[in-house]
Amino acid sequence: MIKNLPQTDKQYYLIIGERHLYAKARMLNLTAAYSSEDYPDDNMIALAKKTGKSILFVKFDTSDENEDDFWSTRRFNDSDCKIIFYNIYGMETEDGHKIKTLEDAAESLAKIIDSMVSQLIDFGFIKSTDYSGRCGCCHQRIRANDNYCRYCGTKRGEGEFEPYFNIVCCVYGPPIQTKYECEVCGKSWMRTLWGGEHAKYCPQCGSDRIMNCKERTMEFFEFPDDDYE
Ligand SMILES: [Zn+2]
Ligand SMILES: [Zn+2]
Repeated sequence: MIKNLPQTDKQYYLIIGERHLYAKARMLNLTAAYSSEDYPDDNMIALAKKTGKSILFVKFDTSDENEDDFWSTRRFNDSDCKIIFYNIYGMETEDGHKIKTLEDAAESLAKIIDSMVSQLIDFGFIKSTDYSGRCGCCHQRIRANDNYCRYCGTKRGEGEFEPYFNIVCCVYGPPIQTKYECEVCGKSWMRTLWGGEHAKYCPQCGSDRIMNCKERTMEFFEFPDDDYE
């Protein structure tokens, strides 16, 4: 049982459930804790909850039958503590090599942890500051040729650029195609999204005088790629 989680300025605690890999993590100067448990235990979760940080739990479990399903995630919705649990046995590295031995795992540990942290960001478990292709204010995507954010009207490259949670929301419902036209600059564009698009500003001139000209519910199989008009 872990009595204390290590001091870290990261947004997550790295916990390693294998001694050899833990030693390697220490060699790499990673702030980590060793756990002899198979999963993050209640005490560990309680400690993390107090700080609002996530837990990244890394195991090397050769008894795992299903090699394709090498990782699983567990998310605690009732608290601020988000957990990702990984068994890296059988995990495929960038060069297509499968990790089958502890030596393999130790060799690739730095890269593996980097990619896990990217996943924490992708899942919205920890905050990101990656603003490439995003609005500096509301964090929505800004497409390649857009000068303004369609959702809040902020100019590309402007905004507070505060760390944000990159959460991917799931929207249920049929795809809805919406056509817009800007009364000021004349730009027109089309967008199909699950549940519909809710643009308020012209991506070209930033005006809020945009007309929603046509809205059409599509069949599930017809999903045109009009993302870039
Ligand atoms: Zn915005
Ligand atoms: Zn316009």
